[in-house]
Amino acid sequence: MFIVSACLIGNNCRYDGRNNYNKKLNELLIKGLLIPVCPEQMGGMTTPREPHEIIGGTGADVLEGRARVISIKGSDSTINFIKGAEETLKLAKNINASAALLKSKSPSCGVGRIYDGTFSKTLINGNGVTAELLLKNNIKVFTEEDIEEFIKAYL
Ligand code: SF4
Repeated sequence: MFIVSACLIGNNCRYDGRNNYNKKLNELLIKGLLIPVCPEQMGGMTTPREPHEIIGGTGADVLEGRARVISIKGSDSTINFIKGAEETLKLAKNINASAALLKSKSPSCGVGRIYDGTFSKTLINGNGVTAELLLKNNIKVFTEEDIEEFIKAYL
């Protein structure tokens, strides 16, 4: 079993109440291979919610207390993002997940590249908070852009 970002299989859990439906991932869901999670909802955030970005670093910096997750209007939701990451990790461990398929660029789920905290669609290298915590716990992370790589490695 693997973890998947819930917005990728059609749950309307994005900040704007919409989703990022991906047909290939939905096929894996129907086969019973994926468990959906939305770390931001699991961390207590409402939907819809203000868009957030990591200010002052990446998910790794957030987990080490060096950066914050801030909304476009300036609310500090760092605690929710960390809680959502911890809840996701707990679930991943419960199902013995060895990998997760996560939504690219998100401050929670992003893998390899995330937005830079200026709300200007500028990307920097780094992971979202949840992706980073999963990696730290030896759970491999992929995005919807790497599905073929994931399939080759695990299916
Ligand atoms: S990217 Fe992650 S945190 Fe954001 S809506 Fe999708 S599942 Fe939830």
